Amino acid sequence: MMSQILIVGAGPVGLTMAAELARFGQPVRIIDRAPHATETSKALALWSRTLELMDRMGCTTGFLDGGLKVHGVSLHSHGHTLAHARFDDIHSPYNFALMLPQSETEKLLTAHLSTYSIAIEREVELVSFVQRPAVVETRLRHADGHEEIFMTPWLIGCDGAHSTVRHGLGIEFAGSTLDDDWLLADVRIDGPSLPEDEIAIHFHKDGPCALFPMPQGRTRIIASMGKSNMGKSDTGKPNPDHLPAEPTLAMVQTVVNNRTGTKLLLSDPTWLTHFHINERKVSEYRNGRVILAGDAAHIHSPAGGQGMNTGIQDAVNLAWKLAMIMRGDTTPALIDSYDPERSAVGAMVLRNATTLTSMGLLANPIAREIRDLMVRLLFGFHAVQDRLAATMSEVEIAYAHSPLTAGSGAGARLAPEHYDGPPPGSGTVPRFVLFTTDDQTGEAFTANYPHLLEARPRIPPRPEELLVVRPDGYIGLRSKRGHWNDVESYLKRLAINPE
Ligand SMILES: Cc1cc2nc3c(=O)[nH]c(=O)nc-3n(C[C@H](O)[C@H](O)[C@H](O)COP(=O)(O)OP(=O)(O)OC[C@H]3O[C@@H](n4cnc5c(N)ncnc54)[C@H](O)[C@@H]3O)c2cc1C
Repeated sequence: MMSQILIVGAGPVGLTMAAELARFGQPVRIIDRAPHATETSKALALWSRTLELMDRMGCTTGFLDGGLKVHGVSLHSHGHTLAHARFDDIHSPYNFALMLPQSETEKLLTAHLSTYSIAIEREVELVSFVQRPAVVETRLRHADGHEEIFMTPWLIGCDGAHSTVRHGLGIEFAGSTLDDDWLLADVRIDGPSLPEDEIAIHFHKDGPCALFPMPQGRTRIIASMGKSNMGKSDTGKPNPDHLPAEPTLAMVQTVVNNRTGTKLLLSDPTWLTHFHINERKVSEYRNGRVILAGDAAHIHSPAGGQGMNTGIQDAVNLAWKLAMIMRGDTTPALIDSYDPERSAVGAMVLRNATTLTSMGLLANPIAREIRDLMVRLLFGFHAVQDRLAATMSEVEIAYAHSPLTAGSGAGARLAPEHYDGPPPGSGTVPRFVLFTTDDQTGEAFTANYPHLLEARPRIPPRPEELLVVRPDGYIGLRSKRGHWNDVESYLKRLAINPE
């Protein structure tokens, strides 16, 4: 048996990683030190790009069946509506945010993983590891205390914000912990009717308060509660001595009425908690055969609901590359593109989340007035609404500066309407896809590079284009019809034994 790739952490990112590697026939082991999966709703929003990528994984339907489609966001200040932005124009078959508690997302991913006969090994903890030539030696501790030495060709740290893998690599989690307290409540709401398909964000001098529709008629409330006295922590861990008491329903009720200017009646809380926001990111996602993905590599404010989506997309990006390398279909250098691609995305997501959070937290009354004015003015333009929706949905993520990108306009995702077949990268073998209108030459290329290219070329969106699309649906090479030298040199860089 080939050696198993070891995935540490069975959160949404580790589960995606394991399922994607398994789909491509790679042996994996997925461990988690927790005795059971999360029971809380944590990440609520699944965005368009994540759902598109789930199409190629073959598991979107269960998510769509269980989730609630949200079609827009409204912005308010001190009880007055400033603006609405709709998601309908997101350029995707999934032009909405799908609200689904993270606990349900994890259940669905676990069920999807089990279709490959892979089970999570629970109460197994990664304790330490050492990189040896061509292998990583890991020490795993089981529930009964016994320790196991396990050799793996790749160690993937999907082990969350306090990642053992990241600590083991000695990589700094650079950034800061914001000193505001935030409360979170999952409740039922009665009263003046709330749109079921819209997120509502209320700016207020005491701090922002956001209401997110959830499935089964529930609502998630997040509100800032002002500066805490926990002080700044270098580790990002709040000092338990300084944390406020758990919020009560009465406390949340007061905050909601005050900030929304309405008389909503809250009841039946299933989760009441508070949290602090960390804004941190590693400078490198990979060291040799040890790789980080998800919260182990980047954490930030939940504003925009990007954290889990970005982590799942880290896993998707990494899995096909590792699978092609393990299968011997491509040069090991392919892995060098993971860090620059996903680190740039992580940095952008962190910047956006920070900007959104700071906008909500403005303390200066003049700055708040200017913000409200600008929101009212700018959101009157469809172009601004579309920009916000495109950014949040992650459909505009592109790898323009990746070492895997060649040609003007390459790096962007190929929109699903142009697939001319199943999503690139679906099925059991990861392959690039050649898009050309020159059938004969195209077929000669696919025959010459059977380990890299899908067997049949497809028709490009524009006949004058020549495209090589990656197994994750991003355009690797973009050139002009007839410019076969560009295709040749692109594929030679990827091939194991180029002539
Ligand atoms: C209140 C809140 C709201 C949020 N809202 C959103 C949202 O709307 N949208 C969004 O995209 N994101 C949101 N997020 C962020 C989201 O929850 C995280 O980004 C997501 O959980 C990260 O997934 P992960 O798999 O990387 O890590 P985790 O979910 O943290 O999973 C890591 C796993 O690793 C295991 N582990 C850790 N160390 C070890 C070890 N040494 N050995 C074995 N196992 C180990 C842990 O037990 C855990 O199960 C929110 C987060 C919070 C707290």
